[in-house]
Amino acid sequence: MTHTTAQDRTDVLIVGAGPAGLTAARRLTEAGATVRVLEARDRVGGRTLVHTLDDGPAIDLGGQWVGPTQDRILALVEHLGLDTFPQYEAGRKQLQVCGARRTYRGDIPSLPPLSLLDLHRVFSRLDALAAEIPLEAPHEAPRAAEWDAMTVETWKRRFLKTKHARAVFDVGVEAIFAAEPGDLSFLHFLFYLRSGGGLMRLSQIRDGAQQTRIRGGAQQIAERLAHALGERVHLSAPVRALERSARGVTARTDAGAFSADFAVLAVPPALVGRIDFRPALSPRRAQLLQRMPMGSVIKCIAVYETPFWREEGWSGEVVCDEDPVKVIFDDGPPEGSYGALLGFMAGRSARAWSGRDPAERRAVVLDRFARFFGPKAARPVHYLDHDWAAETWSAGCYVGLMPPGVMTAYGDLLRAPEGRIHWAGTETATVWNGYLDGAVRSGERAAEEVLARLHGDAGRTAENF
Ligand SMILES: Cc1cc2nc3c(=O)[nH]c(=O)nc-3n(C[C@H](O)[C@H](O)[C@H](O)COP(=O)(O)OP(=O)(O)OC[C@H]3O[C@@H](n4cnc5c(N)ncnc54)[C@H](O)[C@@H]3O)c2cc1C
Repeated sequence: MTHTTAQDRTDVLIVGAGPAGLTAARRLTEAGATVRVLEARDRVGGRTLVHTLDDGPAIDLGGQWVGPTQDRILALVEHLGLDTFPQYEAGRKQLQVCGARRTYRGDIPSLPPLSLLDLHRVFSRLDALAAEIPLEAPHEAPRAAEWDAMTVETWKRRFLKTKHARAVFDVGVEAIFAAEPGDLSFLHFLFYLRSGGGLMRLSQIRDGAQQTRIRGGAQQIAERLAHALGERVHLSAPVRALERSARGVTARTDAGAFSADFAVLAVPPALVGRIDFRPALSPRRAQLLQRMPMGSVIKCIAVYETPFWREEGWSGEVVCDEDPVKVIFDDGPPEGSYGALLGFMAGRSARAWSGRDPAERRAVVLDRFARFFGPKAARPVHYLDHDWAAETWSAGCYVGLMPPGVMTAYGDLLRAPEGRIHWAGTETATVWNGYLDGAVRSGERAAEEVLARLHGDAGRTAENF
């Protein structure tokens, strides 16, 4: 990797060294194209970030889990020689909703029978509705206009009848989207469910999106990809402006100017909107870029000498409907060489606690851990938290979301190239949108699009820009 300016023209400029951009760079390079990856931060990995503690443990502060059907990220993890381990889940889980605490094993939460029935009925209904969404073009679903005109909150109030079921549903939406049901278009929500294979797959550990971790942390995926790309990756090179002409593209960065035939933008839409395009992007795209806000999440981790809760029969998993920490997981390795608890402040809680005194945040999180796992949980060896809304080059997490009206008005533009500019990033994925797997798939797709143009004379010499 290099921090210096290299002015030679390449075939492709890739903006963003997250999993999407680096995957695109890898594929293009393997196919013989010349590339440069321009990364704003002084590190690679984007929304994956590992903090290694002095005494050893590597803590994932960003994306961390992979799971079944996430074939592209799993293949990449294997290709890179990374080791994985199962998310710990043995033991009893805790559920605190509407003021009462219950414990249970397995996948079916202990709720009053009517609420359980309500929840089951709604889950089945949601999966049936999601099946109507064409992944390549959700805006063309037969009921797209109706669904995009309402929020998930509106739909919930209409179809979920019991208070316990509503409470569990709210926690689930917050945990999966880092946003409130009132923030999200129901059409976008259904698309996201379909994209990940259904609500159960998105929410579960076993056979779900939280099944597997990467030993040493998920940022290694980007680090190993970047290592193989070597000097093609330029750090501390935020693209401030992108000039487009019939001849190609030129990116103006803090580390100099770089030119190429094509550009792949592998950054979330909210951050694309900060780049000064010359000439400007089409008005409709410029409007799309104003309409996909990032979710809000603060990831909070406490590290202990041992996972003492395991000995007491707890799996570490908690669902609770009270702010500010509503979901807790065991975040340590299965062999128990140290213990860790992970809590998410998501959606409204993350907004409320962002920018607050870190000591206050620590106190409230540890108090919550202690409520479920006893006084020892209030005395960790280490405590860390990470507020993704405070990161200039992420502006929130986990993913760019669509409020009502956006998918039907602008959804057709998400992946459509604009002249010499192609789009990657997990927000453009059709499968596992929002996840690491979606990021990898988007990078592969964008690379194929550009390769087709590089190999076709008509594409390379096109007048459009
Ligand atoms: C707390 C948290 C938990 C998550 N949990 C999971 C999980 O368990 N499993 C999972 O699959 N996913 C998870 N995710 C989501 C996952 O991390 C993302 O889907 C993935 O990182 C997206 O990759 P990307 O390459 O599309 O974008 P990013 O990772 O955001 O990479 C984009 C890159 O572009 C750079 N950039 C932005 N603007 C510019 C510019 N103007 N010039 C140059 N560079 C620029 C950024 O610095 C960044 O490095 C989580 C995310 C967070 C934050």
